[in-house]
Amino acid sequence: MSGYVKCFHCKEQVLKDEAKSYRYMTESNPKGTNRNFHEKCYEIHRENQKERAEMDKLWDYIKNEIWKSDKKRTMPNHLLRRLQALKGGLDNNYVSRGNQVFGNNEGYEYEAILYTFKVCKMQIVGSILDKSKFKNDNHLIDYMMAIVRNNIEDVYTRIQEKKKSDERIEKVDISENFKYKNEFVKKTDLSKNKIANKLKHLF
Ligand SMILES: [Zn+2]
Repeated sequence: MSGYVKCFHCKEQVLKDEAKSYRYMTESNPKGTNRNFHEKCYEIHRENQKERAEMDKLWDYIKNEIWKSDKKRTMPNHLLRRLQALKGGLDNNYVSRGNQVFGNNEGYEYEAILYTFKVCKMQIVGSILDKSKFKNDNHLIDYMMAIVRNNIEDVYTRIQEKKKSDERIEKVDISENFKYKNEFVKKTDLSKNKIANKLKHLF
């Protein structure tokens, strides 16, 4: 079909004049190739890319800081499905093959999952130190994810509070009302809150 190109996302034809395109370049292919999309498919593609980048960050943390494993190690499938289930808000803890996973946001964002791993780092590292406790890798992953699941709601709440108070502080800073500012700082002093303290260094 002339005048048509293939949509990179859905693999259907898209009119060349209407396609959204960008050039995809890699180290091995510095000239790059064009990627074409339907307009809607382009949006989905960007969202998926963002999600992948967040997932990579999370895996890097687990691999390097929690497991201290080989940098080349790829994410075990069992862990991937566990994380996707937590993000998708699925009750059964586990995404089975073929489930819709991208763009499913009923659960917790990867950002919140990553913070929870950071907050619970010592607890997780301590509890998986003795590998003989676990039948296999999947068993260890389940144990680790149980700790994350038990704590994520608290962490998520703290993140939301922190974001809200940051927004408010920004607003107050612009105003010249110092009295209000001082009062506000007192009210939002979260130093007595244990989780807020643990979270502080993350932001
Ligand atoms: Zn498409």
